[in-house]
This record gives sequence, structure tokens and C-alpha cells, in this order.
Amino acid sequence: MSDAIEHLSCLIIGSGPAGYAAAIYAARADLKPVIITGPLPGGQLTQTTEVDNYPGYPNGRTGPEMMMDLQAQAERFGTQVRHGWVTKVDFTGPVHKVWVDEKTEIHADAVLVCTGANAKWLGLPNETRLRDIGGGVTACAVCDGFFFKGQNVALVGAGDSACEEATYLAKLCPKVYMLVRKDHFRASKAMQHRVENTPNIEVLFNTEVTDVLGENTVEGIVTLNNKTKEQGNLDVTGLFLAIGHTPATEVFKGWLDMDDQGYLKHAADRTSTNVPGVFVAGDCADKVYRQAVTSAGSGCMAALDAERWLAAQGKH
Ligand code: NDP
Repeated sequence: MSDAIEHLSCLIIGSGPAGYAAAIYAARADLKPVIITGPLPGGQLTQTTEVDNYPGYPNGRTGPEMMMDLQAQAERFGTQVRHGWVTKVDFTGPVHKVWVDEKTEIHADAVLVCTGANAKWLGLPNETRLRDIGGGVTACAVCDGFFFKGQNVALVGAGDSACEEATYLAKLCPKVYMLVRKDHFRASKAMQHRVENTPNIEVLFNTEVTDVLGENTVEGIVTLNNKTKEQGNLDVTGLFLAIGHTPATEVFKGWLDMDDQGYLKHAADRTSTNVPGVFVAGDCADKVYRQAVTSAGSGCMAALDAERWLAAQGKH
């Protein structure tokens, strides 16, 4: 058995639309890319229902199906897809060192960071406790909505995700309370209309969750109207969060430049970072657009940038 450390031309970290699009381009350029999937293979789209706004699917496609399509396309050109989580990096030298699952060290000439973003939580102690024991607090209606079939639930958030998840839950649950902390939605008009046209969604504006009740499972939530200061109780058995995301960039702290929210920075007209040979794409570097199609587009750009950089270094 050899202890030799594997050396790759192109390592892609993350398996959402950015990672797979990068892999398709890198593989076709003969960079023999390896993808490390991360903890959620396929990324956030595996937790969504219909995707109707990705060009090329005139009849829509579910998120999980779309990710399987992207993976198959990347593998068709020779991409190796490996399950694992990058737990440490060292970008000191010209060869970039990456550790997978804390033990396997891989060296790569070019690294494409496509790690995406993770769901945000309110941070209430009982929310965290019940979430961690699987007691009915979740950030994924599509994954967990089924368990609440026939029950009343609450959902927090006012963006497109919240509207999408509320309408999804409304197909399973007799009543969905949608808690919006301001007096208006952030979501697009189209998504708002979808919510407004769903009779069993009740939108509570200016309403925040202050506590989650229940020992082992959610037995209700305590709410506060931040305008009237009135406290209330909602009789629900599930609490869904759809309040945005945090970029999954913790492991790159100290190595890659990032903004105060953790979004990775790149050159104005390129996907290159402050570390030569490390490129970024997708939601981990984008807090503005955050669409599957923009992620995939930036994945393509990162692969092209990596290919050119490798060629300029005489490494390809
Ligand atoms: P957003 O960041 O757009 O919205 C987050 C929402 O959560 C906001 O309404 C925000 O409230 C609310 N929120 C944040 N923190 C709290 C808190 N502590 N308590 C209560 N509410 C809170 O995230 P989304 O995930 O909805 O969307 C992300 C991106 O993905 C967007 O660009 C969106 O357009 C896109 N998207 C597109 C879809 C589609 O096109 N089909 C589907 C889903 C998402 P406030 O408004 O008060 O700040």
C-alpha cells in the first residue's frame, strides 16, 4: 500500500450547480477534475421542488432531478465524484493542500471553491434543542413537510424561499401560519401572489417567534407582534425556517479574502481569489443573484479561468 499523497490538476469543492458546471467544463478541457461533494451532495437544489426558471427545461424539473442530470453530465466527461467534506486547507504554497474528512490529504494545482450556502436559524435555545433532536424544527419543507401531513405548522420568512415553502406545506397541512417580521414581503410579486392565493396560508405581519414550546416535539410557538407588543401562542406541531443562508466558507477563513458575512471575494472581472490557482463560483461568493443558473454560469467561468491559469503556469 502506498502512502503517496494524491496530486490532482483540478479539485472542485462542492456539488451544486456551480460545482457541476465547473466540472463539465474542466472535464471537457481534460483537467480530470475530482469533485468533493460536501455534506449535502447536489447542494441546496436537492431540497427544493419544481425549478421552473432554469433555461432548457420548458416543462420544469425538480431540484433533485436537475442535480442528477448535472452529475450525470459531469461524469459523462470523466469527472470523479467523491462523497466527503473538506475539513482543512493549506494554501501557503503553489500546491494547494486540502484535507477531506479530516484524514485524506489531497494536493491540487487548481482548486475551485463552490461550497454554496447553509440555512440560517433564529438562534432561540428551544429552537436549537428541538432542531437537534429532530423534534419538529427544520429549515427544509421539502425534506420534512411530509412528516407534518394533516397538522398545523408555522413558517418564518418573507423571501422567495419562504413563499415557495409555505405553498408547498399548504398542500400537506390544513393550516400554515407564515410569520413575517416586517409589514411586507421581500419575495417577488409572483411568489407573494402565490401565497395570497392559497387560502390555508395565514400571513402574520410584524410577527416574530420568541420561543418554541414542547419537550421532545414542538407543541406550539410563542409569538410577539413587534408593533403592538402583543404576545401570542400558535398551536402548531412544526416550525419551519426560511430566513436565508450563510455562505459555507468557514474552512477558508484566514486563507481566502471574504466580506464581513463570509462571502468569498474575487477579482472584479474574474473568478480568481487572493490565492493564485484558487477560484470561486456560486452562492459562496454571491449574495446578490443566488440562482441556479447564475451559479452554473459562474462555475463555467471558474473552470475557464482555472484552465487558462494552469496553461499559463505550464501545468496544462
Ligand atoms: P432572502 O435572503 O431573500 O430572504 C430571507 C427572508 O428571511 C427575508 O424576508 C428576511 O426578512 C427573513 N429573515 C431573516 N432573518 C430573520 C429573522 N431572524 N427572523 C425573521 N425573519 C428573518 O432568502 P431566500 O432564501 O428567500 O432567497 C434567497 C435567494 O434565492 C433570493 O435571491 C431569492 O430570490 C432566490 N430564490 C428564488 C426562488 C425562485 O426563483 N424560484 C426560490 C427561492 C429562492 P426581512 O425581509 O425582514 O429582511
